[in-house]
Amino acid sequence: MSLSDFSRYPLTFGPSPVHELNRLTAHLGGATIWAKREDVNSGLAYGGNKTRKLEYLIPDAIAQGADTLVSIGGYQSNHTRQVAAVAAKLGMQAVLVQENWVDWPDSVNDRVGNIMLSRIMGAEVRLDPAGFGIGFKSSWERALDDVRERGGTPYAIPAGASDHRLGGLGFANWAAEVEQQERELGVFFDTIVVCSVTGSTHAGMIAGFAGQDRPRRVIGIDASAKIQETRDQVARIARNTAELIGLERELRDDEITVLEGWAGDLYGIPVESTMEAIRLTGRLEGVIIDPVYEGKSMAGLIDLVTSGDIPASSNVLYAHLGGQPAINAYSALFRD
Ligand code: PLP
Repeated sequence: MSLSDFSRYPLTFGPSPVHELNRLTAHLGGATIWAKREDVNSGLAYGGNKTRKLEYLIPDAIAQGADTLVSIGGYQSNHTRQVAAVAAKLGMQAVLVQENWVDWPDSVNDRVGNIMLSRIMGAEVRLDPAGFGIGFKSSWERALDDVRERGGTPYAIPAGASDHRLGGLGFANWAAEVEQQERELGVFFDTIVVCSVTGSTHAGMIAGFAGQDRPRRVIGIDASAKIQETRDQVARIARNTAELIGLERELRDDEITVLEGWAGDLYGIPVESTMEAIRLTGRLEGVIIDPVYEGKSMAGLIDLVTSGDIPASSNVLYAHLGGQPAINAYSALFRD
């Protein structure tokens, strides 16, 4: 099987835009930095990386006769917001278990941003006091049972659409898209920087790039502050995805790189480097990134470019995976 043998339900506008961040590049004085923008990849509730993953899960949901998408995430989950949008677009229901993943003092955490958008789009939002964790939860099983009990047909989508047989395919497709855009732009991105938490974004990229002729470095930046879990999850999903699309022999273990150092101590809590990255990207490029994910991966990129770990001769592609709606829950950080 190859990637093109899998059905894809289009939920995005098409290839996501790629553009140079020339003022950030000049400011850091090293590698040339570009961005590929999943934050503007779709018209469905601001899009994001999960919308791409869902393009490959939805045909499976439809084939199974599902009428309700059931998923799980934190209160400010970008993933569950994208599930709610896709359910609305397809005329399905969405049941979302929203756990208290971040012990954040802002009292609007369970009301603004992503969770508000999911409510607007008609999802059934179930608040749950459980803390951060990307594994399978009893609250999620209960939600699936409840849908069955009321006569519905649920389709189970795990946190981040990651721990799912098809979860890596969206970003294997992203890798193919990058290669096509490189041909059009006449540039080769030797280094990719991507934020990693539930793992299938980074893992899908690794699997997709494994099939290409020219090697490149795909650097995952952990934002979960649970580095070993992230590494294990990325490695497992990368291998499963490569196997699924017939590239298992091309995938080498040394191609799986997840770096720690920018997550701080806790998922969802920004540290100084996160805040600096958010301000720098906003002030130099007018590009908004969030305190949970992209602020942390951008902080990693800034350090790796500044230190020369990514050499000045490189063209580096920053995967902007979305996530801006969550910033509303962090208003206390930006008062001055
Ligand atoms: N960036 C944003 C904006 C996200 O919503 C997520 C979701 O978890 C990530 C990065 C990390 O992606 P993944 O969970 O596939 O590792």
